[in-house]
Amino acid sequence: MNKRKVAIVGSGPAGLAAAIYTSRAEIDTVVYAGEEPGGQLTKTTEIENYPGVVRKTGPELMVTMTQQATKFGARIEYETVTDLDKLRSEYDAVILAMGASPRLLGIGEEKYWGKGFSTCAVCDAAFYKGKNVYVVGGGDSAIEDATALTKFASHVTILVRGDKWRASVAMQKRLENYQEQITVMWKTNLKEIQGERVEKLVLDVDGVEKTVEAEGLFFAIGHIPATGFLKDSNVELDHEGYILTQAAKSLQGVKLKVEWPTMTNVAGVFAAGDCVDHRYRQAGTAVGMGIAAALDCERWLNFRQPENSENRIVG
Ligand code: NDP
Repeated sequence: MNKRKVAIVGSGPAGLAAAIYTSRAEIDTVVYAGEEPGGQLTKTTEIENYPGVVRKTGPELMVTMTQQATKFGARIEYETVTDLDKLRSEYDAVILAMGASPRLLGIGEEKYWGKGFSTCAVCDAAFYKGKNVYVVGGGDSAIEDATALTKFASHVTILVRGDKWRASVAMQKRLENYQEQITVMWKTNLKEIQGERVEKLVLDVDGVEKTVEAEGLFFAIGHIPATGFLKDSNVELDHEGYILTQAAKSLQGVKLKVEWPTMTNVAGVFAAGDCVDHRYRQAGTAVGMGIAAALDCERWLNFRQPENSENRIVG
């Protein structure tokens, strides 16, 4: 059977950016759009921080990216990939771009997307000018989000479920400069959201129920990379399930001269976007990673090493 050229798993910014580049380079490209075509951006409203795009919503941006990819010949399959080895037997190369989902609490918060609830303060802080907002979480993201929100919000309260930070000492220190603007509530769990928009939060404060007024709610309780189906593959993941590309490994401090930075440890399998990146998680950075993976993939297809060779690391 003649193999097809490139399969891209995921249709968020990373996957579609990769598809625009591979298909424009006249490489036969199929995008497996998965369960959530368009990825996380389809859950946002107005996009204000994607360079070059003014007055577009997240869903509109993803429709435009899809049209741009299909214009150059990429085919979109509305299927979910569950078996990487099968895909590899059908395609010369694979780009993994499945993204990651913000962890949720399951208390009905999804009804409030775009109505005062967000999981991305960097994206949405500017919509909360003069508002009283809450951030759930105790890690670096919670502190980073809370400090970012102080630029706009009238007051920020961080709800930490335990009695200590998960955040690094450096981030904890950052809070010292925000004593007026940020309050921390310890041993506090969010139980319920009330209102048409986010209006009231029902909290459990060390066993005591308390209801507070709120005009905004941000979750910063971690992300879950959509890499579950890779558990039985040979693709190397970190302890949280993020894909370890060669670039990600060198960022961990391993000094390497890497031939294909966006390739995984499996030859011909590349990865990009939030399923690799647990730090920046922006549409713009995902697009950049998708483009890099497409360029590596194109070059690898042209100068490919012998079949089944591992991703060669030199230096
Ligand atoms: P983390 O996994 O580090 O922290 C998650 C936080 O959410 C923890 O405090 C955890 O509580 C809390 N949490 C988890 N589940 C629940 C729940 N069900 N209810 C209430 N609270 C919950 O995630 P982050 O996104 O903060 O960070 C991810 C990675 O990104 C880290 O490696 C971090 O260092 C890095 N990062 C670095 C930044 C920087 O350096 N500028 C900025 C942002 C992130 P508990 O502690 O009790 O488990």
